Amino acid sequence: MQIGGLQKITLIDYPGRIAATVFLIGCDFKCPWCYSSELVLPEKIKKQPRISQKEFFKFLKERKELLEGATICGGEPSINKDLPQFCKKIKKAGYLVKLDTNGSNPKMLKKLIDEKLIDYVAMDIKLPREKYQKILGRKIKIEDIEKSVKILKEGKVDYEFRTTVVPTILTKEDILEIAKWIRGAKKYFLQNFKPEKTIDPKFEKIKPYPQEYLLEIQKAISPFFEVCQVR
Ligand code: SF4
Repeated sequence: MQIGGLQKITLIDYPGRIAATVFLIGCDFKCPWCYSSELVLPEKIKKQPRISQKEFFKFLKERKELLEGATICGGEPSINKDLPQFCKKIKKAGYLVKLDTNGSNPKMLKKLIDEKLIDYVAMDIKLPREKYQKILGRKIKIEDIEKSVKILKEGKVDYEFRTTVVPTILTKEDILEIAKWIRGAKKYFLQNFKPEKTIDPKFEKIKPYPQEYLLEIQKAISPFFEVCQVR
């Protein structure tokens, strides 16, 4: 595993906790609207400075009085076979662990939950089920994404689902489809799209949806969830 970035403090990333966010290099998806090309595209990954694990754990040790949690983000953290050991070390340092994932590795997700190595999961639902392969490519295994949804809905770990509502890719109808798929989940958040440094530069020119549109969708799908909000 390689660490390609560290946000030393965040009050918003880990719900209700003061946390740091660690960014792992590499992803099995290539969403054209992704803001993290330096962690996804091989030519950019080469140029991305690395942070050693030694440095990272030294930082956690020094900040123990201030921070409560660490978010492991990517790229896609679950592509790393040594993720369980990494989580274990963070927990041993006295931190809560939040995992951000695209849900492509249900086996890893289950292992982390069963071994109590993570305390919170934020899983991205990128698209309605039937659009994953069409938009993100044939290699995507939708069965894996579905399995991850099921695992989280069992409620063995605190979790949320979230969708970045990208204009030209997702409409109100698509979000309704997603809501029907994941209905009954504890928390579902809609995030507005930010047109900045996207993998496909075309998306940098796309205007985000007006907030009112997202609120209209949120109103329509709220009955499906315990908590449903626009972020
Ligand atoms: S948005 Fe997430 S899943 Fe998609 S390419 Fe970027 S890091 Fe990977």
